[in-house]
Formats: sequence, C-alpha cells, structure tokens
Amino acid sequence: MADFIPLSVPNFAGREKEYVNDAVVSEWVSTGGSKVAGFEEALAEYVGMPRAVACNSGTSGLHLACLAAGVGRGDEVLAPTLTFIAAVNPIRYAGAEPVFIGCDDSLCMDPAEAEAFCAARCHMEGDRLIDSATGAHVKALLVVHVFGNMADLPALMRVAQKYHLALIEDATEALGTYYTCGPYAGRMAGTIGDVGVYSFNGNKIITTGAGGMLVSNHPDWAEHAKHLSTQAKADELQFYHDEVGYNYRLTNLQAALGLAQLEQLEGFIENKWARWRQYRDALDGKNGYRILGFREECTRPNKWFYSLYLEDGRHERDAVIEALKAKAIQARPVWALIHEQADYGKNQAYGLEKARDYRAKIVNLPCSTNLTEADCQRVIDVLLAL
Ligand SMILES: *Cc1c(COP(=O)(O)O)cnc(C)c1O
Repeated sequence: MADFIPLSVPNFAGREKEYVNDAVVSEWVSTGGSKVAGFEEALAEYVGMPRAVACNSGTSGLHLACLAAGVGRGDEVLAPTLTFIAAVNPIRYAGAEPVFIGCDDSLCMDPAEAEAFCAARCHMEGDRLIDSATGAHVKALLVVHVFGNMADLPALMRVAQKYHLALIEDATEALGTYYTCGPYAGRMAGTIGDVGVYSFNGNKIITTGAGGMLVSNHPDWAEHAKHLSTQAKADELQFYHDEVGYNYRLTNLQAALGLAQLEQLEGFIENKWARWRQYRDALDGKNGYRILGFREECTRPNKWFYSLYLEDGRHERDAVIEALKAKAIQARPVWALIHEQADYGKNQAYGLEKARDYRAKIVNLPCSTNLTEADCQRVIDVLLAL
C-alpha cells in the first residue's frame, strides 16, 4: 500500500524544537515567559499592525472580536453560510443571532446579497440598522476569507460604512493574503476591517497546535480583547475583575512554535502556490474537473486550501472522496452549510444558490505545505483515472 497522503498537516522544518526547548528549559511553559509577547510582536509586524493579541484559538479570538465590536444580546450579525461553524458560533456566544448570506465565486460572502438584505429588509433608526422583521439592531458584518481567498472587501466595506456596521474579518484561513493594488494596496487580510482574527490550529498555514491572534484598527478594541482574554483582571495583586472575562490566553510553549512557524510562512505560501499550479495544470478543464482559482487581479492569496470543482455532473462528490480514500489519499467535501445545521435552522438565510452549488460539487484536495510534487502527482493520477 502506498503511503497515506493527508489533507493538511503541520510542517515543522524550522526552529520549532529549538524554541520549544528553550521555553521548557529556561523559561515558562504556561502563560508567562517571553515567547507570547515575542510572537505577538512578530505577527503584528508581519501583518503591519501596531499590536496583536494572542489567544488560545481562532474561535476564542472571534468571540473576543464580537465582544470588542459591541455585539451583544439581541443583536444580529450578517455572516456567511458557506464556512466553518467556528466563524459563526461566537456570534451566539455573545448572545446575538447570525443572519446568513450566500457566497460569490470567491466562496466568500456576496456583497450584493449583504447589501440587498440591508436595503430591502432593514431600515435605519438614527445611525442604527434595524432588521424590519425582528426589530433587532444589525451590528456587524462577519466576513470569512475562505481558503485564503480575499473576500471582496472594497464592496463589503462600502456596505459596512453605508449601514454603520462593524466589519469583523475572520482571517483564520488567510494569514499572508494581501492586496497588491486598489484602495487597500499592501494591506493584509485581517487588517482592513474593524477587527481581524487569525488561527494557528493544526490544519492552518502555520500552527501552534492550537492558538489564535486578534488585530484591530481601534487600539482600544485590541486592549479590551487582551483584557477579556486574561480574566478581565483589573489589578495584579488584589484580584479585582471589572467585567466577566475569559481564560483565552496562549501559552509560552505554543508561542515558541508560532515564532518558528512564522519564520517559514512565506516559504509555505510558495509551496501552496507550486502545488496549486500543479493541480491546475494537470486537472483544470480535464475529465469534468475544474481547479477553482483565487482572486489574483489585485491580491496575493496564500492559497491555503485547494478546491476541485466537479463541473459537469460526470463525477459525484462523495464517490470521488471514496475513490481517493481507497488509494490512501485524504480528501473532503466543503462544509455543510451553517443555516442547515441543527442550531441555526430557524435563522434567516439569503442568496444561497451559489453556496448550495459549491457545497454539492467541491472536493478539497491534499494541500499540506510539505506535500511533494510526487505525492501531488499521485493524487492527480487517481483523479484522471476516474
Ligand atoms: C479554523 C477556523 C476557525 C477557528 O479556528 P480555531 O483556531 O480552530 O478555533 C474559524 N473560522 C474559520 C473559517 C476557520 O477555518
């Protein structure tokens, strides 16, 4: 049997062991030590922000982002239906309800559908956007940069500004994606809206095992997020806490891994591009397949995850996944749509046609940054033989 080819696994080819050993031997393993602040500074510098706030997952970072944005009980937040559920659950943690919006061909939120909801189903009361059906205050737009593809931020920012919504960027899949021209030239995914969040889960482009980071264009939001992540402790000695906080801290051990991973990020992105090109050149337009592209006119995407699109009905999604599995190759469908999940079935959902189509026809292919050219060829050969 040929070696197993996983979907997306970590790549520890750098100074991970050295930095982790340093943390164990001479520093702290928990939340003290120099590595957390060091990783925050290194990530802030990489994405071009004055400050970054470490947390113990992308999910907790998104919860903090919602709280920093003032999302609270009874509010509504526009959110994508085609995404990982961790992008949406934090809206509920904050006591608010998502209103689901479909995607455009970037797989990210369709700005036209977001605008249509605001224009047709809501009204302004002063500077507040009110959902006319529920009476709820629509407070924010939560945008996910799906698979490392930049969402259409110029259009989404216009919607946010027009209707006085905070724009929360879920950049958990898009560390390293940036604009090369246009109004946001040089700006990284996660740094354009009011607040942005990265993830360092095991399958992301860099990993700390588990972890996340928050950045914000409002310095006080970042400070508030830091405060909430550390139990909202108001003083160090007497244990006074000025609101309900959380233990959302990253550990020194995880930050040690993160520092070593960040040093390799640009190289990882080169690998992501090389294997994506290999899949595209071999499969796009062949045997009923397309390899979905990324926005490249004005952005440099990190190309984190690859999507094989089953174009003409010749192949069925789950049969392709099974055929790959039989050859020791891991693949998966794109996420089940969130508005169809148990706890979100009653929420409003609009503009779903493309999300349904992509859900039905995408197979995600192996994309690890240590995937070799030969392994990639093995995946291609199996697909071409179907
Ligand atoms: C991975 C991911 C998250 C959550 O990140 P964790 O670090 O796993 O908590 C949130 N949103 C999206 C779109 C993700 O892919």
